[in-house]
Amino acid sequence: MPQNSKRLDLTGQRYGRLTVIRRAEQRGQNSYWFCQCDCGNTTEAQQGSLRNGTHKSCGCLTRELTAKRFTKHGHSPSRKAAVRQANTIAIGQCASDAQIQRTLDTLSMADGV
Ligand SMILES: [Zn+2]
Repeated sequence: MPQNSKRLDLTGQRYGRLTVIRRAEQRGQNSYWFCQCDCGNTTEAQQGSLRNGTHKSCGCLTRELTAKRFTKHGHSPSRKAAVRQANTIAIGQCASDAQIQRTLDTLSMADGV
């Protein structure tokens, strides 16, 4: 048995869409792991976030869930407005993904979805 048997080895474990490839650099008290996402991206995740289920993808899951919220009501006028506004932001202000995401979230809440 290794001396530091308290340290978990998550290599090969699956958490949502992520498969743990290898241990990443330790940062302070936190262990980090390199993970491969099902979509093909790789990401680093904190051990605690993986194990409690808050880190389940490279970020693609959040994007898909957001997209789904806006396709649920097919042709509703509010969805069209939301998409139009998102496009306007994207084109007009060179917004980052995060900014578009925030806008979509706000619109989604207003829409009561
Ligand atoms: Zn992904």
